[in-house]
Amino acid sequence: EAKRSGRGVVRAFDESMDESIRFRRRIESGLSNAIAGGELSLVYQPIVARETLEITGFEALLRWHSPEYGMISPAMFIPIAEESNLIHELGDWVLETALAAVKAWPGQYVSVNFSPRQFRRQNFVGQVIERVQRSGVSPSRVQIEITETAIFDDAERAADTLYRLRQMGFRIALDDFGTGYSSLYNIRKFALDCLKIDRSFIDGMGRERESMAIVQSIIHLGRALGMEVVAEGVETQAQVETLRVAGCSHLQGYHLARPMPQDDADTLATARFIGTSDEAATGTAA
Ligand code: C2E
Ligand code: MG
Ligand code: MG
Ligand code: MG
Repeated sequence: EAKRSGRGVVRAFDESMDESIRFRRRIESGLSNAIAGGELSLVYQPIVARETLEITGFEALLRWHSPEYGMISPAMFIPIAEESNLIHELGDWVLETALAAVKAWPGQYVSVNFSPRQFRRQNFVGQVIERVQRSGVSPSRVQIEITETAIFDDAERAADTLYRLRQMGFRIALDDFGTGYSSLYNIRKFALDCLKIDRSFIDGMGRERESMAIVQSIIHLGRALGMEVVAEGVETQAQVETLRVAGCSHLQGYHLARPMPQDDADTLATARFIGTSDEAATGTAA
């Protein structure tokens, strides 16, 4: 009896494995047609200076409208693409599209996410430089966002890659900072311009002493090392106030602005400042 029900559990498990593998395959094959099919787009979320609410840059975020599944989150399909060579095709399209977008803006940078596999690709630096040079965009207007995972495995090689990119004038940001494994020793060695505090810590600030302490530590660390610090996922005016007291230099989140299509980003970029409901006056007067 016990044996039989045990086998039943195993069979159910196998079936659900099959199903998830089938699902992954369908996502993969769907994704491989997505570029040619025009199913991909980028949205852009402003990154603003905390004091003046001036927009210093926009993060480019990938969107996929699948004919089969509807809108699928990059948090779901990027990891699948990352397990195949698809990530390179997607990444090339993202960079190309982001470079076209930044040209329409008066001076802001575009911040582009690169997954660990992209970052470790043979001749990553050469390919990025080639694309950016061909576009005519100055590297100073391109920020490369990587996570701690990308630099963790082979710190020596990562340091070299980042050094070469920075030499060319690119901005480098460490995304989701605080959630990965980078040691402070590594942070010191890397050529970084910007630390992005993971949104989970911003979210926790009002509730837990621990999150607040971590946010403060990251801000101190960034400032002491001459880096810009961006708080991600700022959703309330209370968080803005707390981050102001803590001395955080830059903000990104729904409270400031949601990710938006290129047209709207162009309009905001030209206006140069964000007006939130609470701070519209400050934003436009500055
Ligand atoms: P990320 O790079 O950390 O991007 C920030 C995510 O937080 C975005 O989710 C953004 O829409 C969301 N966000 C921004 N403000 C708020 C807020 O106030 N509250 C909340 N709850 N969320 C906020 P999104 O666009 O779904 O992207 C998820 C992740 O997918 C990104 O996290 C990034 O790791 C990856 N991703 C997105 N686009 C690309 C891409 O072009 N290439 C690569 N390799 N990865 C990408
Ligand atoms: Mg990012
Ligand atoms: Mg992030
Ligand atoms: Mg994130």
